[in-house]
Amino acid sequence: MSAIDDLPALRDIVRDHGLLPKKSLGQNFLFDLNLTARIARAAQPAAVPVIVEIGPGPGGLTRALLAEGAHKVIAIERDERCLPALAQIAGRYPGRLDVIHGDALETDLAGLVATAGCKARICANLPYNVATPLLVQWLLSEPWPPWFDRMVLMFQREVAERIVATPVQREDYGRLGVLAGWRTRARILFDIPPSAFTPPPKVVSSVVELTPRESPADCRAADLSNLTRFAFGQRRKMLRQSLKGLSAHGQPVEPLALLEAAGIEPTRRAEEVDVEGFAAMARFLGG
Ligand code: SAM
Repeated sequence: MSAIDDLPALRDIVRDHGLLPKKSLGQNFLFDLNLTARIARAAQPAAVPVIVEIGPGPGGLTRALLAEGAHKVIAIERDERCLPALAQIAGRYPGRLDVIHGDALETDLAGLVATAGCKARICANLPYNVATPLLVQWLLSEPWPPWFDRMVLMFQREVAERIVATPVQREDYGRLGVLAGWRTRARILFDIPPSAFTPPPKVVSSVVELTPRESPADCRAADLSNLTRFAFGQRRKMLRQSLKGLSAHGQPVEPLALLEAAGIEPTRRAEEVDVEGFAAMARFLGG
């Protein structure tokens, strides 16, 4: 594919606006129009009224989303150097691109899309340095079901494997797998090689789709978050040991009593307990 619109080529935009990629902002840009179109198509942008994109950078994926029929893209970009390039795209697609200059971690995304009155979809080539905190923030959203109906996100392959892991893949299974498995159905859609990016990262990337579950196992997000942080903090230890020191709602928790109440062997390790087991424990933390 040589062009998807009549805007200048991405490489020219990056050169003209002096967008020398910054490592501190996780800037690995995608210029390959076939790949940006493939990611955009995976999100089916025309099917929802709003797409939220984190880190549009020079706008490669943004343009693909708009060309694939997104009605409105709300894009949050931290690097002000990218704003003129994004304003050019907004001019090409009047009324369809809102750019917000800010840190996605600090932005009230639910509030931004609330005015649309229906669910949004998140699509992003995430900056690797904030990808996991952002995903965890979305997975712990309240209320649930959340303000988005699907997430199509690019991560480093190793993070993607942790997101979709279950106790069967013990090495990869951890807090991220529990939180993602609890509230979503997650799957890896496809990989993207380092050579597709400018500059190329050291590792392969993967596009992951996460679809919120309507009714995840009953427990409070804050309790599950707290519990999994503790349990996987010392993942090789038995839970009767690793949960020592855990407290909930201002009260110390007795590990053996908690494990017995949830029907989990005290000699189990965190990496052997599935999402249901963690949710059962978190329910007892809630009192
Ligand atoms: N979407 C573009 C693409 O696919 O070529 C750029 C992706 S690049 C991996 C990540 C982008 O996220 C960069 O443009 C970077 O400036 C931006 N970014 C980094 N940290 C951010 C944050 N906390 N909030 C919003 N944007 C951020």
